[in-house]
Amino acid sequence: MRDDESRPAWGVTSKATALHGDALVWDNHTCLPLRPDAAFLPQLERFREAGVDAVTVNVMFDGIMSWHDGVKVLTFFRDWLVQRPELYVLVKTAEDITDAKASGRLAVLFDIEGMAALDGQLSLLRTYYDLGVRWMLIAYNRNNRAGGGCLDADTGLTPFGREVLGRAAELGMLICCSHTGERTCMEVFEYSSNPVILSHSNPKAMLDHPRNVSDEVMKACAATGGVVGTCGFGMFLRNGDTSAENLVRHIDYAVNLVGPDHVGLGLDFVFDEEELKTFLGKGGILGEEHPVPDMFAPEDMPALTEALLGMGYPETTIRGILGENWLRVARGVWKGNELLGV
Ligand SMILES: [Zn+2]
Repeated sequence: MRDDESRPAWGVTSKATALHGDALVWDNHTCLPLRPDAAFLPQLERFREAGVDAVTVNVMFDGIMSWHDGVKVLTFFRDWLVQRPELYVLVKTAEDITDAKASGRLAVLFDIEGMAALDGQLSLLRTYYDLGVRWMLIAYNRNNRAGGGCLDADTGLTPFGREVLGRAAELGMLICCSHTGERTCMEVFEYSSNPVILSHSNPKAMLDHPRNVSDEVMKACAATGGVVGTCGFGMFLRNGDTSAENLVRHIDYAVNLVGPDHVGLGLDFVFDEEELKTFLGKGGILGEEHPVPDMFAPEDMPALTEALLGMGYPETTIRGILGENWLRVARGVWKGNELLGV
C-alpha cells in the first residue's frame, strides 16, 4: 500500500520505505546471462523498481569462457546501456553513482571474476578499466596465473599476481578476493597497497562451505579498509534460506566481527536459471547437475532494509551496509579514466 502518492509500493513500513528510498543502495554483484544478447537486459529495471541505485554486472569468469568472448559480452552490455542515457549511467567515477541516484537513473558498472581474463598480459587491466570494469577478483574457484582458488590446492599469490596488484593500484582497479583461496587472500591483503574487497562472500561461521570465508579472512579484509559483501545465493546461506531475515543474520555476524563500516551487499542474483544450471556444473562448485538454488531477488531489497531496521541498527549503519561503504572504498581506490575523458 502506498504511504503517499510519491512513494513506491514496496510493501514495507513507512520508515523502511523512507530510508530505502533515500539511502544509496548498491548491489555489488549481479549476473546477467553471459551472452551478447539483449533478452535479459531490460530486467535491470527490476533493480530500479526495488529502490536499487547502483548495480555491478558480471561480464566474465575464469574457466567458463575465453577472455575474448568475455570482451564481446562486456562491449555488448556497454553498447546497450550507452544507447539508453535517460535510464542508465555507465559508471566511471564514484561521483557518477551519486549523480545517477540524484537523476533517478540506474548506475551500472562491471566486474570480472578471475585474472584468467588477462591471459597473462597486464595491459588488459587498463583495457577493462577503460571499458567500465571497476573490480576484478584474483581466482575464480580454481588456480590461475595470479593465485589460488577456493576449490583448488591454493598455492598462494604468484609473482604475476603481485604484478597485477601493482598495476591495479596504479590504474584504480579494485581487487576482490571472493572465490579466491584462503592463503592467496591473506597474501593479497598483505601486499595490496589499496583496500581489498570480498564482493560476495558469506561467513564460514554461518555455513561451512568452501566458498564462504573464515573470520581471519574477513578481519584481514576489513583491516585493509575493505568491505565484505553479503551474498544472497542460497547455497552459501545457512539452511539455504534466502529470506531477508536470514540474510540479516549473516550481515549481523559480519557487523559484529569486522564492524559496520566493513559490510556491504553483493547479492549474486542470477537472471537466467538455465545458464546457471550449466555454469554450476562446469564452474566446479558441484561438478554435476544441481537444482537451481533459491536466490535473494532484487524485489526483496526493501524488505532487507526493513529487516535491518528490525535489528535496531542506527540509520548510519544501515546506510553504510546498503551502499555507502562500497562508495567509500570506490572513492579511495578508483581513479580517472583516460579513454573516457574523465
Ligand atoms: Zn561469484
